[in-house]
Amino acid sequence: MILQAPKITPELREKVDGFLKKPKLLFIDGDWQEASNGEVFTTHDPATGEELAQVARGSSIDVDLAVEAARRALEQGPWSTTTPAERTRKLNLLADLLEKHGDEFALIETLDNGKPFAAARGFDVRLSIECLRYNAGWATRLTGETIPVSLPGEWHCFTVREPVGVAALIVPWNVPLAIAISKLAPALAAGCTVILKPAEQTPLSAIRLTELVNEAGFPEGVVNVITGYGHEAGAALVDHPGVDKISFTGSTRVGQTILSAAGNNMKRVSLELGGKSPVVIFSDADLDMAIQSAAMGIFGNTGQVCAAGSRLFVEESVMDQVVEGIAAKAKSLVLGPGTSPDVDLGPLISQTQLDKVMGYIEDGSSAGARIVTGGSKLPGKGYFVEPTVFVDTRPDMPIAKEEIFGPVLCATPFNGDNIDRIALAANYTDFGLSSTIWTNDFSKAHRLARRIRAGVVKINAPSALDQALPFGGMKQSGWGRENGRFGAEAFTELKTIAAKLA
Ligand code: ADP
Repeated sequence: MILQAPKITPELREKVDGFLKKPKLLFIDGDWQEASNGEVFTTHDPATGEELAQVARGSSIDVDLAVEAARRALEQGPWSTTTPAERTRKLNLLADLLEKHGDEFALIETLDNGKPFAAARGFDVRLSIECLRYNAGWATRLTGETIPVSLPGEWHCFTVREPVGVAALIVPWNVPLAIAISKLAPALAAGCTVILKPAEQTPLSAIRLTELVNEAGFPEGVVNVITGYGHEAGAALVDHPGVDKISFTGSTRVGQTILSAAGNNMKRVSLELGGKSPVVIFSDADLDMAIQSAAMGIFGNTGQVCAAGSRLFVEESVMDQVVEGIAAKAKSLVLGPGTSPDVDLGPLISQTQLDKVMGYIEDGSSAGARIVTGGSKLPGKGYFVEPTVFVDTRPDMPIAKEEIFGPVLCATPFNGDNIDRIALAANYTDFGLSSTIWTNDFSKAHRLARRIRAGVVKINAPSALDQALPFGGMKQSGWGRENGRFGAEAFTELKTIAAKLA
């Protein structure tokens, strides 16, 4: 089979232009509606800074309405009385619709987020479809167990998994559609009703998704969508006593706020937060593979990835070779608007993000770290920054310690095979999301993997994103895991039923 690179055809443009022209409303209880105060906010194309659309700016009043609708659909039906098989069917139907309109979603994501069209189609949209299909299967498989007890008499004791209730799904701007679906799919499979809050920078794919949710025939109130700002709509969801669960992906700072605010009614909380993930390359590794993967692991999606491999540790004997290889790759990457063919890296999401990344780069240079390649923003429109590699960093420098969320790599050499020492360096961070080890020595790889404090350790693999593999962080990278059984069970409560038999 010959795979054709996806193309932005005039017909596709026309379809997406048609979508952009429509009003961008809230979706509450099966109805599209303006924000109750009539306010809107603007979403921009980060490749040009130009306005794409005006979007309803949901407030706490709209959140109240959405939570009421979600509670009704949960407690009075029809969602609570829908069979697991029917939930599977609906999720598969949504996957089919997304597949049918995949190119449209890719272009919407490219315009709103900036990422290259081919990446949006081949990664974000593909992953979203896979996620819906994978979680569709969990609807009929979330089971409890029967438990033998040692109490006097005869007993029938068992556990059941019930939906956790009304779930608020709060989503960031870096992978908007796929992260929304990574929460929506398991929540609906588990029988929850939801309020989805996309990021204010990238609300468009969630709005288009809601049109498909409607077309797939999900009952009223099961999926509600509130667009708006984090400190308004987001904070109102987190404070709301009618919300039982918050599933959040975003910054560690906001994650901490959510954690304290959710305490009011003891909401269940899942948090996928920041990272400063280590990549360790030993001299015996397949260096070509390690170099290409380490480069794309930090530069891909313009570095705006929570699991980006931003701290590189290289065995000294191959340090120059690896750093030169990564720098050569960085120079070869084409920066430009995601709608242009052959673009490898799109812009950063906003002026704020560009200022933040440039601030780190300037601080790093003035603190004595050396730039091997990159380090500048591009002149002209859009928020473009060159992929950048630093050497001569110290572990306590902000560039080596804090999450930059941009295409900036800090490379450090290490000597010898002392696994404990290497682990100490890799673990010298408040984060613990992901990590990668490159070596052909099986024992060395696994001894180091055991010592690294991160939710995911990849060995000789550029990426290991599979719906069945749990993903999430230790330390300040989060609470809980997404994907796999764990991800679906995170939207359930476990109930024990203990019956004494007469
Ligand atoms: P970033 O700092 O990378 O923009 P954030 O963590 O601020 O990411 O945002 C991720 C998501 O969290 C967005 O949908 C945003 O609107 C939302 N958000 C931001 N602040 C809050 C808050 N205080 N309460 C709830 N949600 C918030």
